[in-house]
Amino acid sequence: MARDPDQSASGGHAEAHRHAIDADAVQSRARAYATSKGIPFTAMRQRVLGLLAASGKPMAAYEIAEKLSDARRVQAVQVYRALEFLQEAGCVHRLASQSAYFACDHLHGSGEMVVFMVCSQCGAVQEAASDLVARGLRGVAKTTGFKPLHPIIELEGECADCTSEPVG
Ligand SMILES: [Zn+2]
Ligand SMILES: [Zn+2]
Repeated sequence: MARDPDQSASGGHAEAHRHAIDADAVQSRARAYATSKGIPFTAMRQRVLGLLAASGKPMAAYEIAEKLSDARRVQAVQVYRALEFLQEAGCVHRLASQSAYFACDHLHGSGEMVVFMVCSQCGAVQEAASDLVARGLRGVAKTTGFKPLHPIIELEGECADCTSEPVG
């Protein structure tokens, strides 16, 4: 899998991205992953990913099930199964703090440290990969012999848009 040239060139700088998702790109990435594993890219998987890519904000599994339900009711368990696949494919992240999921169109390197910045005002999530944070955390973990498996950090706060709004 090719690395995003912008990401690998970022060096020690934290690079923030607005979460405008390239829906076609994530769909084809998920499809390619399914093909490589010899598993089907089912309609449910496509619909869950399509919804998350369009919303651009984190959603809980039950919310996704509700939105996808029409004449036929979609069960949360179906959504969880689809989400499991999409996370494996690297197209969806889970926010532990909210048990919510959102689409990602970055190509993360394996073991890359990702910082999720969650706006408590508007709910938007931005991602940044920071080598500096990664090195610091690995150093901390090393002193205790702890082996980090999912190097993900969640920061709660206010995004630039919400902060710049005039206070009334
Ligand atoms: Zn990501
Ligand atoms: Zn915000």
